[in-house]
Amino acid sequence: MSRKQTLALVAHDAKKSMLIDWARPRVDVLAKFDLYATGTTGGRLHDDLGLTVIRMKSGPLGGDAQLGAMIAEGRLDGLIFFTDPLSALPHDVDVKSLLRLAVYYDIPLAMSPASAAAILGLLAT
Ligand code: PGA
Repeated sequence: MSRKQTLALVAHDAKKSMLIDWARPRVDVLAKFDLYATGTTGGRLHDDLGLTVIRMKSGPLGGDAQLGAMIAEGRLDGLIFFTDPLSALPHDVDVKSLLRLAVYYDIPLAMSPASAAAILGLLAT
């Protein structure tokens, strides 16, 4: 039996509202996936939109690393990651590692609303 598709959503603090605004009109499509998120992002997706999300640790506390491990294990089908290009982050190495693994394992990766819409359409078909 094939498993449900898995999608991870992560947004840095300055981009969390952008992610919520992006996700709001797509709640029905997103609900078809097994959703994963870093801790605070997942809390917002649940509290603001009512989505069921498996919450990893907060990004700076290992959540990015947990998602990276899922990619390495072949357990993530897509990653939507709205990064903040204007702030220095204490967990920059984790952010780079997550992006590096997404590229290495060639999973669909989106870092902007337009590209996220494109990969959601791709994965949902
Ligand atoms: P957060 O983590 O969702 O727990 O804020 C995101 C990140 O900073 O990678």
